[in-house]
Amino acid sequence: MPTAELDPGEHDPAEVFRDGLALGELRYRRCRCRWCADRSAQLRLLCATCGGTEFDWERSSGRGRIYRMAEPTGGGAAGGTAVVELAEGFRMSARLVPVPAHRLWPGAPVRLEVTEDGGALRPAFRAVAA
Ligand SMILES: [Zn+2]
Repeated sequence: MPTAELDPGEHDPAEVFRDGLALGELRYRRCRCRWCADRSAQLRLLCATCGGTEFDWERSSGRGRIYRMAEPTGGGAAGGTAVVELAEGFRMSARLVPVPAHRLWPGAPVRLEVTEDGGALRPAFRAVAA
């Protein structure tokens, strides 16, 4: 869903992304070119698919699935990082909120949870019941 009020204008993309996290939202950018519509939560200068420089900001539902687990770090409660595939079809690497290890598997449903790390807000994902 296009969100005109997120028009970044002169704002720094990192700031737009951070403002989203402060509101508990994951904002991502969609390439404005018609044939590619590449979606990404990474703040690239150029579209990775077509090299375009025009993006529209959109809000993710914050729901997705674990696409690939990073190497297990050991310990009781599993955490670490994973590549998450969002419902909107893009993937991003993010921390997992520690939960019992049996809830973490490729394909497990996750939900965005904004965490604070060293004073900075970061997107993380929590495994949720299927
Ligand atoms: Zn593109």
